Amino acid sequence: MNVLIVGAGIAGPTLAYWLLRAGHQPTLVERAPELRRGGYLIDFWGAGFDVADRMGIVPELRRRGYVMHEARSVGRDGRLIGSIKTSAIMGALDRYVSIARTDLAATIYAALDGGAELILDDTVRALDDDGDRVRVTFENSASRDFDLVVGADGLHSQIRRLAFGPDEQFEQYQDMVVSVFDIEGYRPRDELVALMHAEPGFQVVRVSLRDDVTMVIFTVRHDGPVPLGSVAEQQALLRERLRGAGWETSALLDAMPQARSFYFDAVSQIEMPSWTRGRVALVGDAAACPSLLAGQGSALAMVESYVLAAELARSAGDHQQAFARYRATLATFLQSKQAAARRLGLAFAPRNRFQLLVRDTTMRFMGIPKVTELAMGRSFRDAIELPDFAAV
Ligand SMILES: Cc1cc2nc3c(=O)[nH]c(=O)nc-3n(C[C@H](O)[C@H](O)[C@H](O)COP(=O)(O)OP(=O)(O)OC[C@H]3O[C@@H](n4cnc5c(N)ncnc54)[C@H](O)[C@@H]3O)c2cc1C
Repeated sequence: MNVLIVGAGIAGPTLAYWLLRAGHQPTLVERAPELRRGGYLIDFWGAGFDVADRMGIVPELRRRGYVMHEARSVGRDGRLIGSIKTSAIMGALDRYVSIARTDLAATIYAALDGGAELILDDTVRALDDDGDRVRVTFENSASRDFDLVVGADGLHSQIRRLAFGPDEQFEQYQDMVVSVFDIEGYRPRDELVALMHAEPGFQVVRVSLRDDVTMVIFTVRHDGPVPLGSVAEQQALLRERLRGAGWETSALLDAMPQARSFYFDAVSQIEMPSWTRGRVALVGDAAACPSLLAGQGSALAMVESYVLAAELARSAGDHQQAFARYRATLATFLQSKQAAARRLGLAFAPRNRFQLLVRDTTMRFMGIPKVTELAMGRSFRDAIELPDFAAV
């Protein structure tokens, strides 16, 4: 089958890889003019790690990635509240790596070994599914027919809008915005340590990475309109909401305009009754974004792509059957991931003093190695059996 995959982030190239293994012809279309480098660091683990293992890319992920030493929670004056040492969960960390999201994407893309067509700097303007094929109108390239179209174009998916309807039907805003940026030469540094400081309404995180780079993450409660277009408005919102905050917040805000890359978005989940319609399907954040609160969106995106490709491989061209099995395999699992992520909202930005107290008390207990091992070891295991991949 000829399959158009829209979006060359995490889910798109993973799907292309497994479709190639099944003898299909995937085409990737990516809106960006080039595959990006840098950007925010993600933790990568669970069933998605198993998919990466089956693709043979784990050694490369480890080469590009990081093993963080510690996550430390500090108060307004910088005093230690609690800390989690990764040595306490080394067993679980055997299948865990921290890596830039774009390095994960680039590693998956490299595994395609040139086997999939890639169209950069383009997107889909219209879809016409006549039941036998989908006619795709691109923004720049000439129109083409495909057997299937898969939207792997992230949280604000254009394919979801075109095939399923407006975002408001599916997007569950979590009353929070997130910003991530990286700066060079910031002091102080704590090598490979994540320092976290929370007050009612927000959390500020500073992570010291290699090459004298510091990554900063702000998660801020916000219930007004989210300024998605203008960086100036986004930075003004952060300055306004974090005014008077303790610890290093004002120094980090001062460094923000010099950031090498700046990311800002709403924290939202996507909940849909179905991820497929006719010959169109969605994977990754486009289908079931769990948000950064899950700490696992990339891994889940890879699981979704793997399962969709495996079901297409075993349904011998019957895409309807494959689509039905795709959802049946994953719906409950992904719903539970989304629910768990929502419960973690208070850790990322406590709403009030009581939630802050709960968060800080949890951090104190997590500093006890046995407690860390018990609590985190369990949460690193995913309750899903990946289907076998029947290559043709
Ligand atoms: C701050 C932050 C921290 C996170 N931390 C973690 C973590 O620790 N662990 C983890 O696993 N996950 C984490 N995530 C979530 C993770 O980044 C996402 O779940 C993951 O990137 C989803 O992959 P995807 O391929 O579905 O979408 P994306 O990675 O968003 O990729 C979508 C691709 O589609 C392209 N695109 C978009 N629109 C169009 C269009 N109209 N036409 C063509 N192309 C288009 C984009 O340019 C992009 O390349 C975090 C997210 C954030 C925001």
